[in-house]
Amino acid sequence: MLAQRLYTDTKEITVEEVPIPEPGPGEVLLKVAYCGICHSDLSLIDGNFPPQLPVVTQGHECSGEIVELGPGVTAWEVGDKVIPVSGKPCGVCRECRRGNFANCQDMRLMAFAYDGAWAQYVVVPAAGMTRIPDGVPMEQAAILADAVATPFGAVKRTGKVSIGNAVAVWGLGGIGTHIVQIAKLAGAVPVIGLDVNEDVLKRAKELGADYVFHSNEPDLMKKLREATGGRMIDVAFDAVGIQATFRQAIESLDFHGRAVLVGLSGQDIDGGPILNFGLQGKEAIGHLGYKAVDIYLLAELIKAGRLDLSKSVSKIIPLKDIKRGIEIVETKEGNPIRVVVDPWAETEADIEANRAKHDDF
Ligand SMILES: [Zn+2]
Ligand SMILES: [Zn+2]
Repeated sequence: MLAQRLYTDTKEITVEEVPIPEPGPGEVLLKVAYCGICHSDLSLIDGNFPPQLPVVTQGHECSGEIVELGPGVTAWEVGDKVIPVSGKPCGVCRECRRGNFANCQDMRLMAFAYDGAWAQYVVVPAAGMTRIPDGVPMEQAAILADAVATPFGAVKRTGKVSIGNAVAVWGLGGIGTHIVQIAKLAGAVPVIGLDVNEDVLKRAKELGADYVFHSNEPDLMKKLREATGGRMIDVAFDAVGIQATFRQAIESLDFHGRAVLVGLSGQDIDGGPILNFGLQGKEAIGHLGYKAVDIYLLAELIKAGRLDLSKSVSKIIPLKDIKRGIEIVETKEGNPIRVVVDPWAETEADIEANRAKHDDF
């Protein structure tokens, strides 16, 4: 089969023929339909994330069809269309020994600790998979794991957004755009988008933000006060994760408001004057990832027509052009929300034909 390979010492990326992997006990073999290109994949290439294997197939946001069951797998059948989880619990840490696998302290991540899905086939654990309901396009299903589920977890569990909350989102890329859509779905009003790119601001408005502001706007806090009718922000999301954006997010909060940090960087946290933080009872909370059930709920929301991700897959590229796909994500060419890989296409015509074939199901 064809697979992308990253040689982690030289950072060389190839697309080469490798043997189709065999599913072990409790695992299944998937024929990959689509797999997203995520910023965390780039962080293994640029060295920000330490390599765990000398050579690895990347890609961890995928959809596919089961083509083989490993020994002992009884809950699934060949032909099922699924979204796999992108990690395996270690089995030996304190939480795993208690059976609390979801909170494993040393989760082995797909595409880092074992081969991922920028390939025609991938072996994944049978536990934790989500069945893709009819009516959910396979390319949208692929990005639910992470690109949409992380925003869902941030809005629902960490941000606890509820009806009528004023919400502001800093950084309107793949993660921030979906936070805007999901906060709106949760009943937030107003939903305010902030970024430094005019095109991205315009897109957020089209996708449902009530107001958008350039985050370098000198009177930003005044604008937020006007947009919220004087009450300021109940839940602020920082999807950028740098000092400047987090400080603004904290400053924007109403009394007892909460700032949720979703973006990641190595910078120190700057929450502004400690006095204000204490006097106004503000909260700052970090957020990472999602639960398998979030993927299921998102699929249901799409199926019911409540959540429209038709703008979220900005481009589909053939696996052989993976380097080009990585470059588009790296340079933000055309401000993509998500770029996904079709491992079976060679040409634009193949991409369209495969898409139509998947939609026939
Ligand atoms: Zn990801
Ligand atoms: Zn563990």
